[in-house]
Amino acid sequence: MMIQMFQDFGHANPKNNNVYYFSVEKYDYATTSMKEAGEGKFCPFCNTRIEYEFYQYSHIGKFKCPNCNYGENKIYKLATNIDLKNRKFDVDGITYNIKFNSIYNVYNLLAVIACSSLYNIDADIIKQSLSTFVLNNGRLEEIEINNIPTIINLAKNPTGCNVSLRILNEDNEQKELLFVLNDNVADGHDVSWIWDINFDNLNNVSRIVTSRYTCL
Ligand SMILES: [Zn+2]
Repeated sequence: MMIQMFQDFGHANPKNNNVYYFSVEKYDYATTSMKEAGEGKFCPFCNTRIEYEFYQYSHIGKFKCPNCNYGENKIYKLATNIDLKNRKFDVDGITYNIKFNSIYNVYNLLAVIACSSLYNIDADIIKQSLSTFVLNNGRLEEIEINNIPTIINLAKNPTGCNVSLRILNEDNEQKELLFVLNDNVADGHDVSWIWDINFDNLNNVSRIVTSRYTCL
């Protein structure tokens, strides 16, 4: 139950004892069919179609190759009781309060917990650090505009954008969406990837404004 690319590193180094896997339990908005554009439908080792128990987002979820068992690993750290509304999850009986309400950040922060633990960093220190950690810089940055709570999120690919819309859809408050498309050099002139974004079925969105960002 993890990100396939990371698993491939481990499977490519079967004799390396320093390979550790982490995993995240099914969260409330996981689905039994792929909801967004995803990759990795076939086993990279035997080309058999991979079977999913559930999808967290895109192609991230619990899966297994029915032929060679790719996807079955000994899990070093498992995040449980994923509560994005209250921004917390558990690992080894310890509750980690976080500043994010996105499932992909649970994966990111669990990777931090796993690495920190391998370096024998005390769980209390990790817990304290995660409780105050924010990225800002346009990554789920929370600001107020005319006293209106606003979240800014930068996306550079379909999966990134689709998980941003997931955050929006999992929030039951009424909201407006401003979608700004940028085709400048740093992010690439080819914006055809936006065709893979799920714009249908937006929850509680009263107005959508679109714009194009141009650097002068
Ligand atoms: Zn296989």
